[in-house]
Amino acid sequence: MTKRAEAINAEKSVLGEGPLWLPESGRLVWVDIEGMKIRMWNPKTGEEESVSVGQRIGAVVRATDGRMVCALQNGFHFLDAETGELEPIADPEAHLPGNRFNDGKCDPAGRFWAGTMPIADGAPTGALYRLDGDGSAHKMAEEIGCSNGLGWSLDGSTMYYIDTSTRRIDKFDFDAGSGGISNRRTVAVIPADQGYPDGMTVDAEGKLWVAHWDGHAVSRFDPDTGECLERVELPVSRVTSCCFGGDDLDELYITSASVGLSEEQLRREPLAGSLFVYKPGVKGLPAAEFKVQGT
Ligand code: CA
Repeated sequence: MTKRAEAINAEKSVLGEGPLWLPESGRLVWVDIEGMKIRMWNPKTGEEESVSVGQRIGAVVRATDGRMVCALQNGFHFLDAETGELEPIADPEAHLPGNRFNDGKCDPAGRFWAGTMPIADGAPTGALYRLDGDGSAHKMAEEIGCSNGLGWSLDGSTMYYIDTSTRRIDKFDFDAGSGGISNRRTVAVIPADQGYPDGMTVDAEGKLWVAHWDGHAVSRFDPDTGECLERVELPVSRVTSCCFGGDDLDELYITSASVGLSEEQLRREPLAGSLFVYKPGVKGLPAAEFKVQGT
């Protein structure tokens, strides 16, 4: 039997992104960037919920004080997911109204990394930021076209990073103590006929699962050799991100988008914007939380 990703019967997103498994409540949370909301879905009950945040939202993570932290068009905010109430933390690009925050993840020490991109296609005016537990934001990389896919090696010594516009999966040496990155180099380049690398997650064997925007697939890469180990085809072209979820973290949840597709493409891709699930036969790891100072 061919293994394939199955579409989940939940409301479609315009630009679904940033999936994250919430182990306590057994729910998947993800964002609809253009829909300006956080989506939640319970695989056991099929129950769906969404929280509007009133501006584009690139990523959401859990915080150690019980709230969530999100990277919005206008910077980092705490979010009360029950009420939708936002509390600003830092807006490092207040001077760049043409940019918005995109993908983000927490490192193993609980710092929140998220990067930006221009809202209209254009010059690489984006940057990658690190939000620390004291609420300070630090620019860690610049000249970014479309900041995406973050992940860390199992030993915490390497950070993986994708600037989609480069078609590359890159890696840095990562200093877990200081949160510093250095020695950027390339893991793999996605060939033009396989779309662009977008969101990414790391499995329990330390391998990378990368979504292919305009590439109809998620691929598994060996970050040491750059070899593509597995390719999962999807019936939609704009595959945006993935994460492991389920009680045993053995399900790969995959987000997608319909944004920017022509009428003709939308006819060919009736599932564009859907959430998908795939059983890869390897497990994931629990996502790190944002460590709020004093918690
Ligand atoms: Ca993305």
